Amino acid sequence: MTSATRADTLGKVWFVGAGPGDPELLTVKGRRLLEQAGAILFAGSLVDQAATLYAPPGCVIRDSKDMTLEEMTAWLAEQARAHATVVRLQTGDPGLYGALIEMARPLTAAGIEWAVVPGVSSAMASMAAAGESMTLPEVTQTVILTRVEGRTPMPDGEDLASLAAHRSTLCIFLSITLMYKIEAALRAAGWPEDSPMLVVHKASWPGEEKIIRGTLADIKARCREAGVASQAMIVASPTLGALHWDTLVRSKLYDPTFTHRFRKASA
Ligand code: SAH
Repeated sequence: MTSATRADTLGKVWFVGAGPGDPELLTVKGRRLLEQAGAILFAGSLVDQAATLYAPPGCVIRDSKDMTLEEMTAWLAEQARAHATVVRLQTGDPGLYGALIEMARPLTAAGIEWAVVPGVSSAMASMAAAGESMTLPEVTQTVILTRVEGRTPMPDGEDLASLAAHRSTLCIFLSITLMYKIEAALRAAGWPEDSPMLVVHKASWPGEEKIIRGTLADIKARCREAGVASQAMIVASPTLGALHWDTLVRSKLYDPTFTHRFRKASA
């Protein structure tokens, strides 16, 4: 291929989920794309380890923390004119609080192909770290991923008190400094003071993860004691602590009296 034809060929931009922090929680596909990337734009200090671990020699690596959205999309488009594989590396899953569509629209407008590689969200990693399940039979079968209002307004009907009325698992992002709003919302929805709550700081980060357990009444004080004021997932769920409950409704999936597509009932 001559350099003239190379310049005519646009590369592809991959929005890759880096996972929650532990480089081993990157997907195999995400890692392969990093290993063949001509350029990588990574999101702040959260994911630089994966970028630097797996990038090939000569790869152009840039931190996006001081860039505007326009600068980022211009950079990605420029790199896609020079390299076949360009990676935008984002924490957790790119489709959660990741400005994915804002970045993708200008690429589409410029005729640049793009695709998403999902990642392990910090919501999943936090529950995994604590050995908790998001769903339990006859307790809750629903998970809500949300945040409370900071500078980004919440759309109508999505205030936490309304969502909390469902008594499902709530995974609350971007809100550790707004714990007082979470407490007020849960109380407004009638959650009792002894409702179990979980905060995980830097889930999956080797040596830095902190798991804080408490109740609606004391979780804020416990976070303060632990010095947790950033990069934290807050979970309020009726499933928390089920490992130690006296009685548990068992899952139909593994129930010996329950027949399903892959197994006949044995009792
Ligand atoms: N796309 C990411 C979320 C980005 S928004 C994902 O899927 O996880 C940033 C918020 O995610 C933080 O405020 C925090 O609430 C949460 N977060 C990201 N990484 C985290 C981690 N390792 N541990 C706990 N919370 C984390």
